[in-house]
Amino acid sequence: MANLLRQQTKLTVYGRKPRKCTVPVNDQGKFLKISQYYGENVYNYHLSKSLSLEDKDALKQVIDGKKAIDKTLATKVANSVLEWAISKGATHFCHWFQPLTGSTAEKHDAFLNFDNDRAIETLSASQLMQGEPDASSFPHGGSRATFEARGYTTWDLTSPLFIQESANGKTLVIPTAFVSYHGDALDTKTPLLRSDLKINEVMTKFCHLVGMKEVKKVYTTCGAEQEYFLIDKAFYFSRQDLVMTGRALMGSLTSRNQQLEDHYFGMIEDRVLAFMQEVEIELYKMGIPAKTRHNEVAPGQFELAPIFKDANVAADNNQIVMTVLRNVALKHDFVCLLHEKPFAGVNGSGKHLNWSMSTDTGVNLLEPGHNPHENYRFLAVVATVTEAVYRHADIIRMGIASHGNDHRLGANEAPPSIMSVFLGSTLTSILDSMISGGKYVASSKTVLDLGARQLADLFKDNTDRNRTSPFAFTGNKFEFRACGSSASIGYPLSILNSAIVDIFEETNKILEDELSKGKSQDDALAAVILKWYGNAQRVVFNGDGYSQEWVKEAEKRGLGNMRTTPEAISVLKDSKKTNVLLKTGVFKESEISTRHNVMLERYIKCREIELRTLSGMVLKQIVPVAVDYKAQLAESVKKQKELGADASLELELLKDLATLSKTVYEQTVNLTGSLDALHKHDEETIAKKIASELMPQSFKIAELCNKIEEIIPDENWPLPKFYDMLFIR
Ligand code: ADP
Ligand code: MG
Repeated sequence: MANLLRQQTKLTVYGRKPRKCTVPVNDQGKFLKISQYYGENVYNYHLSKSLSLEDKDALKQVIDGKKAIDKTLATKVANSVLEWAISKGATHFCHWFQPLTGSTAEKHDAFLNFDNDRAIETLSASQLMQGEPDASSFPHGGSRATFEARGYTTWDLTSPLFIQESANGKTLVIPTAFVSYHGDALDTKTPLLRSDLKINEVMTKFCHLVGMKEVKKVYTTCGAEQEYFLIDKAFYFSRQDLVMTGRALMGSLTSRNQQLEDHYFGMIEDRVLAFMQEVEIELYKMGIPAKTRHNEVAPGQFELAPIFKDANVAADNNQIVMTVLRNVALKHDFVCLLHEKPFAGVNGSGKHLNWSMSTDTGVNLLEPGHNPHENYRFLAVVATVTEAVYRHADIIRMGIASHGNDHRLGANEAPPSIMSVFLGSTLTSILDSMISGGKYVASSKTVLDLGARQLADLFKDNTDRNRTSPFAFTGNKFEFRACGSSASIGYPLSILNSAIVDIFEETNKILEDELSKGKSQDDALAAVILKWYGNAQRVVFNGDGYSQEWVKEAEKRGLGNMRTTPEAISVLKDSKKTNVLLKTGVFKESEISTRHNVMLERYIKCREIELRTLSGMVLKQIVPVAVDYKAQLAESVKKQKELGADASLELELLKDLATLSKTVYEQTVNLTGSLDALHKHDEETIAKKIASELMPQSFKIAELCNKIEEIIPDENWPLPKFYDMLFIR
């Protein structure tokens, strides 16, 4: 029987038009330049009329972490913020935070108050500075007994306040950290802020040791490239799996998926471009510098990249980017899928974290220099980062673990779960030659000894591009590509930063030792380079990270390869591996076990939802359609036999379908049985069983469904197909 719903859904989608939104214009109706409205919804204390110059100075010192804010200043700031927010039309404020759910949370309060009987607007210092949401409603991994259900949100002065516009009003958003009554971080922001303080301490010392005495502050920079899929809303709501899990749990690949590679950087369709433009307008108003937009490799896949900022603000901004993508998509009758692998067989989505460290004097510590001394410093930073990834690979791998990312790491065009570092041929040859004591011969056959040539110029001609490495040097920054598209980047960043801090503490010791022996700064830096690169060379891999040879080679080199989330999060129970988080002060012991429990629980819950959704779809949608078509075929066979016609084709289809549908039915019943039997185990065993037994079972079921899909007439199929979702817009 033809599936009318699917046909109607397609017709709905064929009729869609690009949506027009309100574009910022001047009095004459002319489009404004981005620079004319960029950041208009961001609070800027420099522009406040009610704050005096002394107030602004004092506030700057607080923001720079030089002193704590006092009540008097906080009250003045609250008044200034209120004045600004009201003038922009905001009626409410909210403390906005990033609990361990991976997304954000907020509780809104009106500015409304009463002066005797008169309604007025107020925002007190304490309302600005602190909130008290019920911590028990957020994941806490058992770290908190119910009688201590209180949690606190505290204003993060280093991330700007902004106004969020919605259809019928505006809200002042206050970025906050979220901690428990006992001061345990219940969010991703707090550890990130701690890691940045440590980076500042250790790296400022490093700068001083290598002669950059003028440096007062060092911070990490991050630009998070966000990949996503857009599919039409009508298709999305016709598929339970997408709604419940964000992933198509079954689906047969179209013959033309991404083999033609014509989508990447191809022309952006009108409806999609209209969506991107509205997203950007919203982001610009909130001070988020969206820079690049393009089609990604898979059909229906796109990317947004902002200009980099300091890591904490970049992490906040990325959360807003994800929210805006989702909300604006709906206005355009799209759904934005942030899942790491919504469609098996085509590329998944990641979030490339471009990462570096910058000084307050404007020096990027990963920028190759223009003189020999700068180049020694640069190479020492590269070598130290390489050692950090080598020594702390397992914990870094843990930081990007999620059920969604399991489908991506190592699958179609995603970096593998083996943590390796790509340095490119130029940089590798330079470092190799330093180790062997020789001179580097550039491809142009000119000799580079670090004294004579300039690395920066060399790189311009040798920009290596490698898309298969999870951690790649790309000219003047590292690009951590293994992070999942739906993840909150604060978590992997805080872990990466701890690893970096740990090794730089040792680097600083080496420098101090060498310098105290009377060595020159360059010789001291050379000692660092030789030590770390000599040790960590094994983690450097410039070849094809997707190849099977690399998996074997990595094993020979003794590099870890944790393929699944349960395996990766077990690292959090290994004190040798978590010690780096403790000793750098980025996480407390209790917070580490909290993260373990929350990640484990989340893995199990998400997988259970997937498996139950799959079994529901098989039993209620796939099997019934197969049974219908079987009956139709049987009828046809019978009739043809009566007429003496050849029914061999129908018979063959009937037999195939009978076998497939019986097998898929049995396997689904088995899967449900295995699921029901899980509860007798402890959580760690449950997670491992899901990863090693139930997931492979579910993949087999999906394959069977796909084979059935190929037999059933297209018009009878009850679900939007991959073709519909990826190609019809
Ligand atoms: P691609 O990787 O596609 O070639 P780019 O190299 O221009 O693109 O940059 C990608 C991202 O890296 C952007 O978000 C950019 O702002 C960011 N980026 C550039 N320099 C730095 C840096 N020093 N630190 C962190 N991120 C950076
Ligand atoms: Mg990139």
